[in-house]
Amino acid sequence: MEPGDAPLPPHRGLKAFQANIAAIYGAKDAARGIPESYMWFVEEVGELGRAIRRGEPENLREEFSDVLAWLTTLASLTGIEMEDAARRYSDGCPRCGVVPCACQRGADRE
Ligand SMILES: [Zn+2]
Repeated sequence: MEPGDAPLPPHRGLKAFQANIAAIYGAKDAARGIPESYMWFVEEVGELGRAIRRGEPENLREEFSDVLAWLTTLASLTGIEMEDAARRYSDGCPRCGVVPCACQRGADRE
């Protein structure tokens, strides 16, 4: 990507989103490394929790966006394609294989 080029539209699926985040932050993310990037991710999750508690729609959108971006950064740094990770759920619950999930314990998503 050249300076001045518009980034890829981030709404066109996880593959495009991951490529977009890598184009914007990839060099900085690689220099920062996984442990420090993970700390940023956790901090953003905390900010999302505060936004949920406050119930501010615009702030919620921003915090979900930041958490998704940091999660995607960690996927890139660890060699995971987010689209592949998401595909794990494409046939329903990964444990019971049913839509909706028919596992005995409803809150169990492991
Ligand atoms: Zn299930």
